[in-house]
Amino acid sequence: MSELRDLYQEVILDHNKRPRNFGALEPADRRAIGHNPLCGDKLTVYVRLDGTRVADVRFEGQGCAISKASASMMTEMVKGLSRDDIAALFESFHHLVTAPDAGDEGDHLGKLTVFAGVREYPTRVKCATLSWHTLRAALEDEAPQPVTTE
Ligand code: ZN
Repeated sequence: MSELRDLYQEVILDHNKRPRNFGALEPADRRAIGHNPLCGDKLTVYVRLDGTRVADVRFEGQGCAISKASASMMTEMVKGLSRDDIAALFESFHHLVTAPDAGDEGDHLGKLTVFAGVREYPTRVKCATLSWHTLRAALEDEAPQPVTTE
């Protein structure tokens, strides 16, 4: 198990060091700002829509390794997905990182399962889910309002 854990951490560290889809998306159809005051994570998520699907998504900002890696992996996962698909994915992911009895969430979460370990650290859950909350706000809100995990 510790070997697996090391591997998971490697994925997180890699995404933290070289975040994918990092930087502003111009022009963007939607954008939202997310803030996790508990840790100091602050990020902006940009979305370009194609109907109800996310055609492109990028993020920028400052944060801890967990929040940055989570945002980076999220952008890789949600490109091409519909809003409903993304909502379902977020629900599974949220369950993975919060439910103490969560088991194997199945293949659809893919690499996101590396975050299962954060459920042991409740303050880290907000780091891991910040980008998802922010993406949801970007998709739901016509008028951008900052979102916060508090
Ligand atoms: Zn954080």
